[in-house]
Amino acid sequence: MARGRPSRALVRGIGDDCAVLQVSAGHQLLATTDLCVEDVHFRRAWHPALSVGHRCLARGLSDIAAMGGEPLACFLSLALPTNLPQSWVDGFLEGFSRLARRFRVPLAGGDISSAGQIVADIVVAGQTQPGKALLRSGARPGDRIYVTGTLGESAAVLRRLYGGAHVRAAASRRHFYPEPRLEAGRWLRRRQLASAMIDISDGLSVDLGHICAESRVSAVVRAKCLPVGRGADLELALHGGDDYELLFTAPAKARVPDTIAGVRVTEIGRICHQKDYPSAITILDDNGRARALKPRGWQHFRRQARK
Ligand SMILES: [Mg+2]
Repeated sequence: MARGRPSRALVRGIGDDCAVLQVSAGHQLLATTDLCVEDVHFRRAWHPALSVGHRCLARGLSDIAAMGGEPLACFLSLALPTNLPQSWVDGFLEGFSRLARRFRVPLAGGDISSAGQIVADIVVAGQTQPGKALLRSGARPGDRIYVTGTLGESAAVLRRLYGGAHVRAAASRRHFYPEPRLEAGRWLRRRQLASAMIDISDGLSVDLGHICAESRVSAVVRAKCLPVGRGADLELALHGGDDYELLFTAPAKARVPDTIAGVRVTEIGRICHQKDYPSAITILDDNGRARALKPRGWQHFRRQARK
């Protein structure tokens, strides 16, 4: 799989006890791991195998994007029910390898075993120049907060699926085939505009909370500035996950463009001193009224949706 242009990073892939990767001279290795579990992250009745394979790798690539890194290789371990049709496995691998080819990330190894439900464990290795990875801990009071793209469309689809609707994959690429923002992440790292960055996998309220915790700051978000995605509302934009957009902060004097690598960028708020706001995140409604925003994220949303 992933036979696009051969990766210079992959010295030895599948066929030995370990893959051998060549990291560029003077670079640091990035590594991220993500689990995709049937009935937790996807359902066979809702998600075509092609989409499950795509989303599995997209999660890992999005983490590399969030550091401003270059992906080098990926590893995939699968646990599959013995009665799973081969066509499902083929579809999964096709969805996975299409995305891998597009970003020239070779599959460098993995493992396969059996289990009661489908479990896909993805590892993505990447690289960045030393000290240049964009961390969650770099936000400073006065920084502005930005997001790429729009928020909540993926959760809006999930809400419809939980509600019993049939949603075709073609109806929402954002949910079924999310785009890891690798180019935007790299651009931000190269220009050194961002002070902190994370990808929005669990929902804005949770992921901005991670930046606040790691940077020891608080944040104020303006509800009316949030780029609410198609079919979504403010709640889904704040708490729905699976958007895989980038959330970053930049000093007030940094000139952050409206579009980065073809993706819209929206300023949504400010970073503050922890002592100025009792809650990590405060949201200002359309009338300027402030309320504490508790991190909820999609796990909570999923429980709500089930009721
Ligand atoms: Mg992440």
